[in-house]
Amino acid sequence: MALEVKGATKKFGGFTAVDDLHLSVDQGQMYGFLGANGAGKTTTFRMILGLLDPTEGEVRWNGKSITYASSPEIGYLPEERGLYPKMKVEEQLIYLAQLRKMPKSEAKKQMEHWLDRFEVPHYATKKVEELSKGNQQKIQLIAALLHNPSLLILDEPFSGLDPVNVEMLKSAILDFQKQGATIIFSSHRMDHVEELCDDMSILDHGKVVVSGSIREVKRSFGKQNVRIKMD
Ligand code: ATP
Repeated sequence: MALEVKGATKKFGGFTAVDDLHLSVDQGQMYGFLGANGAGKTTTFRMILGLLDPTEGEVRWNGKSITYASSPEIGYLPEERGLYPKMKVEEQLIYLAQLRKMPKSEAKKQMEHWLDRFEVPHYATKKVEELSKGNQQKIQLIAALLHNPSLLILDEPFSGLDPVNVEMLKSAILDFQKQGATIIFSSHRMDHVEELCDDMSILDHGKVVVSGSIREVKRSFGKQNVRIKMD
């Protein structure tokens, strides 16, 4: 298994945000977390990324613990917008890729590839604050994957986007998966998870209530129930 989470628990004071979470994801697989607000998705991701230490349990990536700060192996799209509004798209993307140890010339090449992929090559010289929310999210996704990470974590990448932008992001994420990356993402919506993922977990109040292949999860939970519960 490329990613293994064994009994990860996170407590904030007396409150348990994530409780005894187990997870195994193969290299190249796309894994989905479905859960309502406050279910523990972001806390789980922060533990996987090494941004939060689990109170109990452990996370292993290819057999080792990981640290987000400098690892070129990891890409992360946070739920809150993480771009500098006053900086030009090009400066920002190249700067972030260099922090992840990618040479500048390669970062520029990759940036041009992904801006072309989204049919927005002219955004390179625009400031982030000049772009719509949907277009900012495309830049945020490019920032997460530009340095070609082998583990990509996307926290609610489609949240608040219109259907056209959702489809564009989905298709780019699937393209990136074809390069061999392991991808984990969270959503409030079963249809997004179902369309993109191999396996999934449903989180509720910090606990995994059901996990497995999409088919297994649907069988044990019932599609109708999942929609009613999460939407
Ligand atoms: P959302 O979709 O709203 O982001 P989520 O599933 O990502 O939800 P988390 O952000 O992981 O949920 O939060 C899980 C629970 O842990 C929530 O009740 C939240 O208030 C609590 N929590 C998260 N971070 C902290 C913290 N630093 N201190 C105290 N409680 C926290």
